[in-house]
Amino acid sequence: MTYPDLTSHQDSWTVNDSKTLYALDRWGDRYFSINKLGHICVRPKGPKDSKLDLFKLIQELKGRNLQLPLLIRFDDILEDRLEELHNAFNKAIYQYSYKGHYQGVFPIKCNHQRHVIEELMTCGRKWNFGLEAGSKAELLISLSLLEDPQALLICNGYKDQRYIETAILARQLGRQPVVVIEQTDEVERIILASKQLGAAPLIGIRAKLSSRSSGRWANSVGAKAKFGLSIPDILLTIEKLKKAELLNDLRLLHFHVGSQINDIAILKDSLQEAGNIYVELKKLGAPMGLLDVGGGLGVDYDGSQTASEASTNYSLQNYANDVVATIQECCNSNKIEVPTLVSESGRSVASHFSVLVFNVLGVESVPADIPKEKEGECLSVNNLRKTLSDIETIKKQKNPSHSTLQEAWNDALKFKDDALNAFRLGYLGLPERAMAEQLTWACAKALIQHFPNNELIPKELKSLLPALAGTYYANLSIFRSAPDTWAIQQLFPIMPIHRLNEKPTELGHFADLTCDSDGKLSRFINNGQVKSLLELHSFQPNKDYIIGLFLGGAYQEVMGNLHNLFGRTNAVHVRLGQGDDYHLDHIVKHHTKSEVLQAMEHNPELLLERVRIASESAIKNGKLKISDAQRLMDHLEASLRQSTYLQQ
Ligand SMILES: *Cc1c(COP(=O)(O)O)cnc(C)c1O
Repeated sequence: MTYPDLTSHQDSWTVNDSKTLYALDRWGDRYFSINKLGHICVRPKGPKDSKLDLFKLIQELKGRNLQLPLLIRFDDILEDRLEELHNAFNKAIYQYSYKGHYQGVFPIKCNHQRHVIEELMTCGRKWNFGLEAGSKAELLISLSLLEDPQALLICNGYKDQRYIETAILARQLGRQPVVVIEQTDEVERIILASKQLGAAPLIGIRAKLSSRSSGRWANSVGAKAKFGLSIPDILLTIEKLKKAELLNDLRLLHFHVGSQINDIAILKDSLQEAGNIYVELKKLGAPMGLLDVGGGLGVDYDGSQTASEASTNYSLQNYANDVVATIQECCNSNKIEVPTLVSESGRSVASHFSVLVFNVLGVESVPADIPKEKEGECLSVNNLRKTLSDIETIKKQKNPSHSTLQEAWNDALKFKDDALNAFRLGYLGLPERAMAEQLTWACAKALIQHFPNNELIPKELKSLLPALAGTYYANLSIFRSAPDTWAIQQLFPIMPIHRLNEKPTELGHFADLTCDSDGKLSRFINNGQVKSLLELHSFQPNKDYIIGLFLGGAYQEVMGNLHNLFGRTNAVHVRLGQGDDYHLDHIVKHHTKSEVLQAMEHNPELLLERVRIASESAIKNGKLKISDAQRLMDHLEASLRQSTYLQQ
């Protein structure tokens, strides 16, 4: 559909209008802007630094045979996020004259990709940035990639004997692993392992806070939380450690209120509670020294700066200030030395640097072209034509009342029903029924076009919008590349990355490549709310229409699955140079069909062989020509080596 088709507006549309429409300056955190050509630009270090035209980059990547869909990771942004996090804490520490420092860790579960972790370790070295592991496999990554002897290696998650022993031995290796007791029985295993090895790990305790929480991950706290010790259990654990002469190794208190804390008030409550538990543990004789406030630092996905699910009502600086000030107050009023502050911020560090880009393959929308008039048209088709011309007449009036427009629409619906009834009774043929449908949609389109923007459409006619909206077919699997949009209805900013100097005249949503009706993107950011249709440009066949999904660097890759056997997309790591210069540090190739088949225990060679045998017998029976059989085999063989997505 075309809404609104105001040619004069089309001319005056500027990139600033696009910026406002897609709220780019609100969620883009100064990393993304639009250039004069109407393309998205990436500026890792803010307005003054070098910048990269995303559309141009994609064309150049395509030239290197890196086809869409494509994951582009801007390592400069990752580095900048890390810098921002440390700057915020250091600023707060300075401002409050906090007598300790901040030392963060990255929770590996947020993005396990080798180049991402390596990049974080290199950039984070100057702050002794560490890692948080939640499983034995993650522990291995941490042990191997975390070479800095000062950095912390926080060991969370369920731990068996081997996990704990590995952590103890890692301490002998010169690392700083802190085994965080999250389940009551873990203390026995720590005691046993320490006895057997004659050495202890650094020990931490995760507290189950009673403070309220909110948002999607609210049940990460409270008495029924999956992890953490209740206060009675903490006291019991202290007794056991004391008896085993391990209390001296108790160094850290940890809590985690759940991911994406939307409301700063929740954080404040938890900090106060945790701060006082810390003080009490000190008083019980544990040396302590580290307070780990977990993850939860949120990302403002929709840029609304509200406590709504896709946003946060606080900034990074507010967060750091609250952590520093609250803990300082707890310690000062008890005359206790302040701890080193640790945070496990994953989402906030890793969301911004990665952009998923995909192309649109085609669009489906309701047929709303006006059919040519034929002689002897039936009454209902005639009536619909008349209604359409009435609508055009009404629109020409100075201030047509909404109720007149609404009446015209009611008429159109009635005539469409008449046509349907006549068809059911056998009085109307298929071509006439088609005409009636087309004319009804043409009426709807004419009505909607009357309003200069979406917001001004009266309630009664709003229901027309979804019916007129287009389905944009995306070369993408959301199950692979944006699983949280499906699993937990997460919102990400989604917008075209070019044609932004052009007014988006259509409304639409995206359907992905999977044969799953859930495989769609139909929830879009809308300033603290959600909208089901996105403003898009009219699709031009054989021309690129490229969409970006932003802020998806955390959690999406590992949660993604092989539904319909769509595999990993191409991924590139880009570093910016001077001006618009760049280099591709790493290219991670897409999964081939052969790889996804093998992941399901199929043997591609055997699959081919069976088709070959079948084709031989078809040749023998005279059903298949030898040349066609060979063509079939060639297609299959080539296909196995290629990506699972559609080729352009
Ligand atoms: C998931 C998790 C994190 C990371 O949370 P973010 O909200 O991504 O910062 C940190 N700590 C623990 C214990 C977690 O389970």
